[in-house]
Amino acid sequence: MEIERQMAGMRRELLSGGCDRLIFNDFQKQLPALRAGKLYSLFRSMPKGRLMHAHIEATFDLRYILSLALSCPDTYVFTLPETHEFRYLQVAHKAWFEGGIIPAGWENLQQAVAARPLLKEEIFEACTASIEMIDEDIWPKFEAIFDRYKALNNYRPFFIKLYSKVLCEMAEEGIMGVDFRYISQTVFDEDGHRLSNDEYVDLVKEINAEVQKKYPWFKVNLIYSYYKGVPAETVPERLVYARHLLEKYPDVVLGFDMVGDEACGKDLDYYASVLREAGVPVIMHAGESVDPANGNIGTALQLGISRIGHGLNLYLHPEIESKVKETGVMLEVCPLSNQLLGYIPDLSLHPAAGYIKRGLNVTINSDDCAIFDTAYITDDLLAAYLCWNLSLADIKRCLLNSLQGDAALTSLFEEQWKAFENSL
Ligand SMILES: [Zn+2]
Repeated sequence: MEIERQMAGMRRELLSGGCDRLIFNDFQKQLPALRAGKLYSLFRSMPKGRLMHAHIEATFDLRYILSLALSCPDTYVFTLPETHEFRYLQVAHKAWFEGGIIPAGWENLQQAVAARPLLKEEIFEACTASIEMIDEDIWPKFEAIFDRYKALNNYRPFFIKLYSKVLCEMAEEGIMGVDFRYISQTVFDEDGHRLSNDEYVDLVKEINAEVQKKYPWFKVNLIYSYYKGVPAETVPERLVYARHLLEKYPDVVLGFDMVGDEACGKDLDYYASVLREAGVPVIMHAGESVDPANGNIGTALQLGISRIGHGLNLYLHPEIESKVKETGVMLEVCPLSNQLLGYIPDLSLHPAAGYIKRGLNVTINSDDCAIFDTAYITDDLLAAYLCWNLSLADIKRCLLNSLQGDAALTSLFEEQWKAFENSL
């Protein structure tokens, strides 16, 4: 096929003259140059299917968060060294503080930036991950980023603007819908009131309905999430909430996940009995690791999981890989996240290249795109194409996998794909 031949030619050219190493070893750093090229434009205009693995807070545009914060006189920045309570350069809206009282160490953001113009860029940098950040403390550093701006992006008026912007931009990038992992009871009102589990879902439904006026097919689903590493006895309460939401919003809420570092000292086995007892559908991060001793994928399969977040170390367990293939369990692969969190220093050695070639049910996703300063999905797709020697047909299959057999979406996708192929 002509488009296949032309794209492969563009790839050969991009990877020639030693550029392959630069692209394989630090994809994020090469993105500005890649984005200026023809192959990037093709990936950008390609129909995308659904985004199956993303964490809502980590998709909010950090520069937009800062511009919202700077247009509001009630936002603050913590400029003292880190304490057990606050992060250095953490930002917050006044309503986040107990009784609206600003503790010591917090400066008014507008005044602080007026006095020190570089501060805005410093906050942006402190909220962005890059390869230079990788060391044995990468996970605490990564989690600190979420803490840094959680008290701004969860301020309800900002949250609505950020969420709407994300959904519209995703639709413009060719994405047909998204399944968001989210942590509940984080959004707060002007008076500090925290939105309940139900209020949160109602709000997301409202935002989605507004976006659907322009992009009728664009649908948000939610995966209720909690943290890995917490004591098992704190999980059943969350599972009760999750079950309630699954019953009340069966068209929106899909299941339960536990997020965070899998090397936190508590593997999935530790939670297996509470998860099994609750009988709530589990859509779980598992195998986000290159440690052969991490057996979370095996445990997840025993829990009846239908989708696995990452599944990176599956190749170390061939008998489990056969089972994943046989049962058609979906792998939500996130290439750039895996590189930026230090699991796969050389992207050309990512095991998902093999998963795709061996016919597993793979989707390609971005995980935490705003923190990685990457696109909602385009950059990860391009990374997979450049680093894994995939064909365009392989890419298309991954995109179709994300539609999970939905007939209406598949026929819309095929129509868009035809137009894409004819665009050259
Ligand atoms: Zn994730």
